[in-house]
Amino acid sequence: MAKDIAQFIAENEQNIKRDIKRLIDIKSVKSAPEPGAPYGAGVRAAQLEAMKFCEELGLETVDCEGRIAYAHYGRQDKFIGVIAHMDVVPEGNGWDTPPYDCTERDGYLVGRGTSDDKGPFVIAAYAVKYLIENKIDLNYGVRLIIGLDEETGMSDIEYYKAHYPQPNFTFTPDADFPVGHGEKGIYSADLVSGPVGEGAVLLLEGGVASNVVADHAQALVRSAALDTLKKAAQGRSDIRLTEQENGVLVEAFGRAAHAGTPATGINANHILMKFLCESGVLEPQEQAAASFIARLTESYDGRAFGIDAQDGLFAPNSIIGGVLKKEDGRFVLNVNSRYNTAIEPKEIEKRIENTANQAGFTVCNMENSGPFYMSPEHPAVQTMCEIYGEVTGADARPYVMSGGTYARHMDNAVSYGIECPQENVPEWVGTAHMKNEALGIEHAKQCCEIYIKTFLRLQQVDL
Ligand SMILES: [Zn+2]
Repeated sequence: MAKDIAQFIAENEQNIKRDIKRLIDIKSVKSAPEPGAPYGAGVRAAQLEAMKFCEELGLETVDCEGRIAYAHYGRQDKFIGVIAHMDVVPEGNGWDTPPYDCTERDGYLVGRGTSDDKGPFVIAAYAVKYLIENKIDLNYGVRLIIGLDEETGMSDIEYYKAHYPQPNFTFTPDADFPVGHGEKGIYSADLVSGPVGEGAVLLLEGGVASNVVADHAQALVRSAALDTLKKAAQGRSDIRLTEQENGVLVEAFGRAAHAGTPATGINANHILMKFLCESGVLEPQEQAAASFIARLTESYDGRAFGIDAQDGLFAPNSIIGGVLKKEDGRFVLNVNSRYNTAIEPKEIEKRIENTANQAGFTVCNMENSGPFYMSPEHPAVQTMCEIYGEVTGADARPYVMSGGTYARHMDNAVSYGIECPQENVPEWVGTAHMKNEALGIEHAKQCCEIYIKTFLRLQQVDL
C-alpha cells in the first residue's frame, strides 16, 4: 500500500530544501568552455551535483558528454520525460541576500535558480523518490533530463535528440501552471542596409535585446545639424538633444515590452528613425535606410513584412525591431517575430527576406524555430489539468504562449508549472530572471504533490 502523499512530503520537506540549496549555491552561469565542460566550470559543477543528488535518491544517471545528462528510474523502453535546466541567467543587481547562498526568508527559498529552474528540478526528483520508495509498478519509466544550456540557445536538447531516445511524453517545469500546450514560432534576424556612407549619423544604438521593445535609442549626429535638429525637436517630450564635443546626441524615449506581448511597448528605435528622417539632416543613403527602418517599426503586427495573420489558436503574429545600430558603415535592425500556424516557417523567412531585399537590405544571423501545438484534448494534457485543479482548487485550462521552452524542441511535450498566481506574496519576492528570485516553500510542496500524482496517473494514459 502506497504511503500517504502528504506524509511523504512532510517527511521530506527539510531534505527538499537542503537539496535545492546544494544546487543554488553553485553559480552556474554559462562561461568559457573548458575540457569536459562545454558550458564552463560552473554549469559543469551544477550538473555533477545534480547527478549526485539523483543517485542518492535511487535514480541511475548518465553524463551525456557534459552537454546534457539524465537520471532514470524504471523501464527504459517506455518512459515519461521531465526536462529542467541547471544553467541560470546572471544574477544582476539589487539582491537583498547573496544570490548564490540559498536563504530562507518569510517562507520562501531565495537565490538565483530557485524557481528557474533548479527548484522545480529537485521537486520533480522527489516526486520520483515517492515512486521508488513505494515500489510503484510502472508502465512508463521516468527520466529526469538535466539541461545545461536552456538560457542561451538550447544546444543541449539538440545534442540529446541527436544521441539519445526521446521520451514517449515530456513535460518541462519551466513555465506556468497548468499546461502550456502550444508555443508560437520564434524568428529573429539582423536586417543590414547597404553602405550609408560618411553621412550625418556618426553613431547609432538602440535597445538592449532582440526580444525586448527598445525603451531608449540614440544617435550621434554631426554638429552642423544642431540648428535643424533643435527646430525639429521643439515641443517633443520623447526626443532629447545634448550638445557634445564630437556632435549632437539625439536620444529617443519609448517604453519596454517583451517581444511576445509588444502591444504595451513604444519602440524608441522607431521614434528615433522617424525623427531623423523628418528633421531633414540625413544624407540620401541614410535617409533611405532610416525611412525603411521607420516603416518596419511603425507597427508590431507584421503588416510591413506581409506576415500579419491569425490562426484562431494563438494570438496574432507580431514582430519588433528591438535592437538598432550602425556597424561597418551600415544601419542594422534586429527583428524578432512571434508567429502562429497561419504561415509556414519557411514562408515567414521568405517574406521577411523579400521585404528586406526590396529596400536594399540583406538578412544576416537568422534563427527560426517553428511553432508547436499539441491538442488541448490530448489525454495527458487533460489529466495534468485535472490534477492541477484538484490540488490547487484553481480553474485549470491549458494555455498557449509566445515564449519558448524546451517543449518546442521535443516530440510530444508540454510545459507544466511551476509558476502560478499566488496570494499574499511579500513585496520583495522576485520571479525568474529578477533579483530576489524566490520559491514559496508551501508552493514547492504543492508542486511535489502535483508531480507525484502526475507520474502516478500518467501510467494509465496511452502516451
Ligand atoms: Zn528556465
